[in-house]
Amino acid sequence: MATMNGTTNGHLPTKQRAAQFHPKDKSVHINEIPIPTIKPDEILVKVRAASLCHSDLMLFEPNEQGLVLGEGDPFTMGHEACGTVVEVGDEAKGFKKGDKLGWLPIVDCCFDCEECQIHNLYCERGESKVQGMTVDGYFQEYCAIKWRNAVRIPDDMDLDTCAPLFCAGCTAFNAVTDTVAELPDEPNSTWVAVIGCGGLGHLAIQYLKAYGYRVVGIDLSADALTEATASGADHVFNPKIDTDYIKRVREITGKGCHAAINVTNSVPAYSSTPQLLRMNGVLMVTGIPQSPLQFQAMDISMNRIRVRGSNNGTTPRLEKCVGFSHEHGIRPRVTQFKLDEFEEMLKLMESGKHKGRLGVLFD
Ligand SMILES: [Zn+2]
Ligand SMILES: [Zn+2]
Repeated sequence: MATMNGTTNGHLPTKQRAAQFHPKDKSVHINEIPIPTIKPDEILVKVRAASLCHSDLMLFEPNEQGLVLGEGDPFTMGHEACGTVVEVGDEAKGFKKGDKLGWLPIVDCCFDCEECQIHNLYCERGESKVQGMTVDGYFQEYCAIKWRNAVRIPDDMDLDTCAPLFCAGCTAFNAVTDTVAELPDEPNSTWVAVIGCGGLGHLAIQYLKAYGYRVVGIDLSADALTEATASGADHVFNPKIDTDYIKRVREITGKGCHAAINVTNSVPAYSSTPQLLRMNGVLMVTGIPQSPLQFQAMDISMNRIRVRGSNNGTTPRLEKCVGFSHEHGIRPRVTQFKLDEFEEMLKLMESGKHKGRLGVLFD
């Protein structure tokens, strides 16, 4: 039975507040919506923290990726969060009330086909959707997630700050582990450039340092470079100020970096990345500009550079990311806002004048 303040005798409220994207006019509003009812393969989570990912801004921009984003009815934004289990569906094996969880955002895929083993956005049996991009995401107090996406967070990890692990963190971790797999096993004398030292980049730097690599951080923002240094980068450069940065990187590293992980959404930043690399260097494509990238075919055919890709991955990889982050004390830097300050947070993200990740901390 509902009480005056909307709570039921079963302790859960019936309504909640959510930061929702309105596709009609591409605006964001804080709306009151019902608490979701879970299906047998779902878990209801009380969100503790949700953070903003740069790709959330794709809702507001045109894209050439062929992605269908933000159509139809208003839906809750956000695809990066963590929280505590409040209700478990019958099929959600191995989870119980009170568990601390993080999770991935693709739903309505089968999780089992060949495509799902690489990335379940491309499931051939289901109709994959991204929570926070086309259906309700996590800038709301309670959300329903698929148990197949969920990973338990160790008790001694801080829920308030670990939300960024569940998109930026696992993307950075996968980019680093996919890069490391291509490099000689001598991290101490192996140089990796991280292009873009914001939300994703500052975590990529921490993972690389945990593996023992030498790191060069590159960003156009002074704040991001401060964060890069705090995250352990050996050298940092701002191409706007250090106009000879390519020459200097090549001097410091001998002949150029062994690998460069580009997490930016900037085509010009990608165009200059091959120059940072030595012969047969790895160019890891991680950030997603809205327009196609161009590289010299000869650079690729002659193996001057090796172009690879990485992304947020699948649940087994997320599990490894959480384990590694726990073991090595990886700390996402998050600036917290209240749900009511959502628009302010969005504007700050758009301005690029922020360090680390921006997020909402719920009560
Ligand atoms: Zn993301
Ligand atoms: Zn599938």
